[in-house]
Amino acid sequence: MKKIGILTSGGDAPGMNAAIRAVVRKAIYHNVEVFGIMNGYQGLIEGNIERMDVGSVGDIIQRGGTVLLTSRSEEFKSDEGQQKAIDQLNKFGIEGLIVIGGDGSFRGAQKLTEKGYPCIGIPGTIDNDIPGTDFTIGFDTALNTVIEAVDRIRDTATSHERTTVIEVMGRDAGDIALWAGLSGGAESILIPEEKEDFQDIIDRINRGKERGKKHSIIIVAEGVGSGFEYGERIQEATGLETRVSVLGYIQRGGTPTAADRVLASRLGGYAVEMLLDGKAGRMVGIQSNRLTDHDINDILTEKHIVDLKMYNLSKELSI
Ligand code: ADP
Repeated sequence: MKKIGILTSGGDAPGMNAAIRAVVRKAIYHNVEVFGIMNGYQGLIEGNIERMDVGSVGDIIQRGGTVLLTSRSEEFKSDEGQQKAIDQLNKFGIEGLIVIGGDGSFRGAQKLTEKGYPCIGIPGTIDNDIPGTDFTIGFDTALNTVIEAVDRIRDTATSHERTTVIEVMGRDAGDIALWAGLSGGAESILIPEEKEDFQDIIDRINRGKERGKKHSIIIVAEGVGSGFEYGERIQEATGLETRVSVLGYIQRGGTPTAADRVLASRLGGYAVEMLLDGKAGRMVGIQSNRLTDHDINDILTEKHIVDLKMYNLSKELSI
């Protein structure tokens, strides 16, 4: 294989740039040409493709977002769109493609692979909701952003003796809420994977108050429901002043942590090795600190499982 392509797709995540850098440099190290496809699958269909060199990925390892830009492309979901994409790849002589993104992006990679075009996926999403890998690129950074916000909010919550509900990202996956709740010392954590016990939330707040606690923090993953609604219900049930913070898009950007840069560099390098070894339709991941790879079909049929032991531990630690 002498020419490969790389694109980022779906939601951006901090560390994607470090992965792009690793792919480009590793490929060039092995005398393989690399083409950057701008704007995800939509850019691929439109032929928005540029040759990259060692310098084109300089000074990006520390930047959030993705220098290749990303998009959501409806056109690519159709057979015609996918054929246009393959035509563009053939036009540029690109023989294999690395896709950085979440499960939607992997569906696209699966379709191209089924049509005979080799693709390798790299998990990049802040949600940490991809099976076959302990961590996705961007999760650690998002978690640290959330924790910084939780710590700040805690200062005010303590000073004013308030209860605070903090709504974090996670439509279907509770990892951000769970990890932030455990590391932020939250009284209760609400995740989409577990049925909520509203009375338990209230009991915990009341118990804390009885032993002189000045604040309570409740972390709600957006998939469970609106932080504002929980805030109202909690205030009604406890009679305590309750405030709500919805962290929103601040969780998606920012300078990637060292952990995300290392993860992105390792996964990027491994993805290039896979392509050069003639592999296709695989996703690279990390499990127990070892690089692994999996059939993308399996990744798309399995479900990421939230660590319920950790969830139960968080309950035990916030008695
Ligand atoms: P993420 O990769 O972060 O999960 P999306 O679910 O929005 O993000 O998917 C990103 C893009 O991947 C979509 O806009 C589309 O172009 C492509 N994609 C998603 N699902 C499919 C599918 N079933 N077939 C082909 N392409 C898909």
